[in-house]
Amino acid sequence: MTCRGGARRLPVLLDAHSAALEACRRCTFDDPAILPVISSAREPLAMLVGQAPGKTEVVDRRPFAGRAGRTLFRWFGSIGIDEPIARRRIYIAAMTRCFPGSSPSGRGDRVPSPFQVSNCSAWLDAEIEMIRPAVIIPVGRLAIERFLGNRLLSELIGRAHRLPDLPGAPIAIPLPHPSGASSWIHAPGHMELVGRALDLIAARLPQLVRESTGTRSVA
Ligand code: SF4
Repeated sequence: MTCRGGARRLPVLLDAHSAALEACRRCTFDDPAILPVISSAREPLAMLVGQAPGKTEVVDRRPFAGRAGRTLFRWFGSIGIDEPIARRRIYIAAMTRCFPGSSPSGRGDRVPSPFQVSNCSAWLDAEIEMIRPAVIIPVGRLAIERFLGNRLLSELIGRAHRLPDLPGAPIAIPLPHPSGASSWIHAPGHMELVGRALDLIAARLPQLVRESTGTRSVA
């Protein structure tokens, strides 16, 4: 299932995909109200892959709707990409689409289990195949490991990495998780790496910056 040469079909494919994903109950959760959280982007140029939705996203039904999202969209705003354009042009996926529960430590959310990640991976694979994004932005350690292996974040963030084995051979530009629970961000020099990564995203996705500028001038 590919969109190459058939971009007009992509919204239709993503509608069908989202309907199937919405009905997914592969993992066993105690709370039947916990449903998959799905991107509304239908003409994406890029993909962002986070870890999992949190409590706010479960209620809001949009990915990155809470505090981490405010930081993430502030980062995008710093390179001229507005949140509405980011949500429209970046398909926001995740390692799992359902809230995995609170962390036993009481600090932040639980990391999804290998069982849940394995259950959910086919949805992500299908989206990459359909969208064939030019750029994939893995956010946080779990997503970064999925695409770039288990390496130090300081060796990976701030650089662009070709993913030759994925459909369309996209470029991965990783970001740390923007939640307050991430201590990596606060270490000396690490925000500079984040700034370099954001500059790479802006350089690879100039259309998003142009569209954001258009949005602001119309408003
Ligand atoms: S986490 Fe993924 S695989 Fe598990 S029920 Fe939710 S959508 Fe389905």
